[in-house]
Amino acid sequence: MKRDKALVVFSGGQDSTTCLYWALRHFGEVHTMTFAYGQKHSVEIEAAERIAGLAGVDFHLMDISQIASVGKNSLTDSTMVMDDEKPENSVPNTFVPGRNLLFLSIAAVYARESGIYDIVTGVSQTDFSGYPDCRDSFIRSLNVTLNLAMDGQFVIHTPLMWLDKAQTWALADSLGVFDIVRNETVTCYNGIKGEGCGHCPACHLRNAGLEKYSQDKDIVLKSLKDSLI
Ligand code: ZN
Repeated sequence: MKRDKALVVFSGGQDSTTCLYWALRHFGEVHTMTFAYGQKHSVEIEAAERIAGLAGVDFHLMDISQIASVGKNSLTDSTMVMDDEKPENSVPNTFVPGRNLLFLSIAAVYARESGIYDIVTGVSQTDFSGYPDCRDSFIRSLNVTLNLAMDGQFVIHTPLMWLDKAQTWALADSLGVFDIVRNETVTCYNGIKGEGCGHCPACHLRNAGLEKYSQDKDIVLKSLKDSLI
């Protein structure tokens, strides 16, 4: 089986945009799938569609917004105040239960129908914000489950799994898309494009990584190369 097609689970944020360009480097044909999961800010979806256009790839929007009525979290419920950091004994309330499980499962069904068996997601265990569905063990487990469920030979690629945010900036830079990632993506939990609001947890992580990368470019680029070997 020739494997030259990939489907990127694509939010329009820093991580999945970097993964999109990583996929374009490694596969001949790249598709994206973006999910409406009841997030408060439609600007994320607009950013995803715009970036897919810039990258010249197929954009597919999947509406699973009913998920917001099942699991309570501060990304979809505007009455909740967002946790600034991870509480000691639980996940932060920005965690959307089942999100990556559903995203990847639906993506796999769609991919299978399109003859795609390589799925790319931007999860990272290094900077995982306390979200259990960003860990390598979950991805490996789900990969096995998807293959058993659909008698397929899926491979879930996680290029950022062991990278920190500074290294993710370095990867975007080495792929030649630093400015696109910096200016066009929406990572901010308050839905502000580019640099974001500057004070939500997602902005803290993104901006701290950018600062570290800007201060020590050569060192971070070298650590990226070493970690990719
Ligand atoms: Zn923010």
